[in-house]
Amino acid sequence: MPAVRFAPSPTGDLHLGHAFSAAYAARAGQEIGARLLIRIEDIDQGRSRPEFIARNLEDLAWLGLVSEGEVWRQSERMPVYREALDRLEGLGVLYPCFCTRADIRREIEAMGGAPQDHVGHVYSGRCRTLSPDECAERIGRGEAYAVRIDGDRALDLTGPLDWTDVHRGSFAVSLATLGDFVVARKETPTSYHLAVTVDDAAQSVTRVTRGEDLLSSTHAHRLLQALLGLEVPVWDHHLLVVDDEGRRLAKRLGSPSLRDMREAGLSPQSVLETAAARAIGRA
Ligand code: GLU
Repeated sequence: MPAVRFAPSPTGDLHLGHAFSAAYAARAGQEIGARLLIRIEDIDQGRSRPEFIARNLEDLAWLGLVSEGEVWRQSERMPVYREALDRLEGLGVLYPCFCTRADIRREIEAMGGAPQDHVGHVYSGRCRTLSPDECAERIGRGEAYAVRIDGDRALDLTGPLDWTDVHRGSFAVSLATLGDFVVARKETPTSYHLAVTVDDAAQSVTRVTRGEDLLSSTHAHRLLQALLGLEVPVWDHHLLVVDDEGRRLAKRLGSPSLRDMREAGLSPQSVLETAAARAIGRA
């Protein structure tokens, strides 16, 4: 059965932005006759906390949003991601990257950029040309690494690709913003991009609803789908909820949580209305 999903990362309590996104997914599901699935995206074991899983699900239930199928936890699906990673490896489109964040920052500075430019910076592909022997030697030595996709090679294999957003129309796949994105790390056989792509297909998600901030990620997901031979959904990138200063809500900015609002006596209905009133972006 087709599905839509809301996929929180349990790194803190949910805020208005999550309420908007989850309610948006539920509404999209009703419109297209798809069930709503909640999926816990806890592959980042450093930042995810088990206690937030229960708290996130409880907050969603308070809003009237429950999963109409089993709640998957990505941390329990590592063997599935490993298999997908092995398939990509078999296609010859991956390479290990030993650059640290500091290396990448230095590289940008050397090219005349400001240190803060490394946010959203496209990786130069420095490790793409390392020899297989050097890679094997460094991995054998226990050095940390990320596994990146060679975007040009991958697109050569698939040929031109496109994807569709219900609001913005069709996009030709381009990795201009993402570059050779990360698909796995030394200790984790996946990344956000790979896990989301594999799971959306495995859960028959036919319409992917999520915030517009993830628009550039969709290029990566479409490429991975083509490489792995997965079904292609339609995307529905929604507006983003902002605070009084027009900043996106974020746990780190101390945005009030749904829990705070519930404890202050607000109703689920008023929380959802406030969220919708604060959603801006594409007009
Ligand atoms: N776990 C992601 C987040 O919380 C979900 C992104 C997506 O819906 O693809 O941002």
